[in-house]
Amino acid sequence: GVIQEARLKYLTDTPGIKAVTVLFSDLEGRLHMLDYDKKFLLKSWDNLTFDGSSIRGFTAQRESDLRLALDWSAFYWTPSDVFGAGKVLVFGEVIDKGGAPYSADIRGLLKQFSNKLHKEHGYTLNAANEIEGFLFEGADAERIFHDTGEFKYVNTGGYYHSLPGDPLRTFIDTSAEVQRAMGFENEKDHPEVAPSQFEINYSYGEVVAAADQIQLYKLICRQIATQMGMTASFLPKPVVGVNGSGMHTNISITKNKKNLFWDANGEEKISKFAWQFVDRILTHGNDICLLLNASVNSYRRLDPHFEAPNQIKASATDRGSMVRIPIGNEKSARVEVRSVGPDANPYMVLYSIFKSGLDGDTAKIKNLRQAERYLPDNIYTALDDFRSSKWTTELLGEDVKARYADLKQASADRCPRLLGTIVKVPEVQFH
Ligand code: GLN
Ligand code: MG
Ligand code: MG
Ligand code: MG
Repeated sequence: GVIQEARLKYLTDTPGIKAVTVLFSDLEGRLHMLDYDKKFLLKSWDNLTFDGSSIRGFTAQRESDLRLALDWSAFYWTPSDVFGAGKVLVFGEVIDKGGAPYSADIRGLLKQFSNKLHKEHGYTLNAANEIEGFLFEGADAERIFHDTGEFKYVNTGGYYHSLPGDPLRTFIDTSAEVQRAMGFENEKDHPEVAPSQFEINYSYGEVVAAADQIQLYKLICRQIATQMGMTASFLPKPVVGVNGSGMHTNISITKNKKNLFWDANGEEKISKFAWQFVDRILTHGNDICLLLNASVNSYRRLDPHFEAPNQIKASATDRGSMVRIPIGNEKSARVEVRSVGPDANPYMVLYSIFKSGLDGDTAKIKNLRQAERYLPDNIYTALDDFRSSKWTTELLGEDVKARYADLKQASADRCPRLLGTIVKVPEVQFH
């Protein structure tokens, strides 16, 4: 198409660009990067292949040869002081040998789903995530934590509070500046409640771009922290006794630029359509929990004493609820899914929320807004819920569902002390 032509011409005409980094994510959401020399890429962009057999979730023998198609609309310039000189980034779509979208590439799944809804109903799916994380002393902090169970804060400021010269402030400012340089619309940044904790918020985006941005955002944070001799950690609950980190997922649906979630006369000023969406999410709260809270550590975070949800209900005010309805207006009316960890696969998070909210099992739908139901408080329960659910088979298909469950089972089994204690468990996943 037009975009593809323009990008290829730009690459050809810009001598400063030497390499193109192609990004894709594995089934658990780890970001993978392949750097192609520009000259090679310009000749071979429509015939890129890679060996998938060492990528988590892509490992069946028949998948040793996979293809990458470039999504030219997901193309980013990068500041050279952060990413190295002469590089641009472009997201790839994983394609199987036969040319079909590869089933374990959840970005592709999300894109197909979003395109289908746009074609059939004129819907645009919007998402904005509030990503929280910690900044710790030392570029190797997660590895040290793995060995000793200890993290070192870089400051002790707390909510909205930072002093000039504060490393957390410098980190937040630099991350925001890099995002601006890459074309993201930054909204507001602040130190979060826990010591050394941060949050950056940016504007709504269409789902696929929004999920890409989460991947890039975490990459940027890690890169900048490392340059400062520190670590940006997106573990949901790295420190016991203070708030954990969430990835609250705000969503709405527009049609012809009209926000379908808004209704000035509706309950909490959201529409019936939005409430049906919420009811379906709550109905499937247990089924999809493992997709939103994807690590052993996620379950430590789900504690209302630390502003994280543990109940499968909806509320305008109670932050212990899985779904909250923030105050909004015609433009900003939305629902906020709070039970999401920042280490989950963002494509999986958005796919499962939108698909459950729109196509969820209507036969089962009840008003569960105030019912007393709880989210799993450990990954084994979440695994049982996920495996025994018919809905997750519909979401992912038997094969991808089984692969996902196997990966999560393996990570749970790497933490033998899970049920005995809540401190000093070696459960860091390096991604
Ligand atoms: N950190 C909290 C969580 O884990 C959220 C706190 C907040 O945003 N005020 O979800
Ligand atoms: Mg926030
Ligand atoms: Mg917050
Ligand atoms: Mg929030």
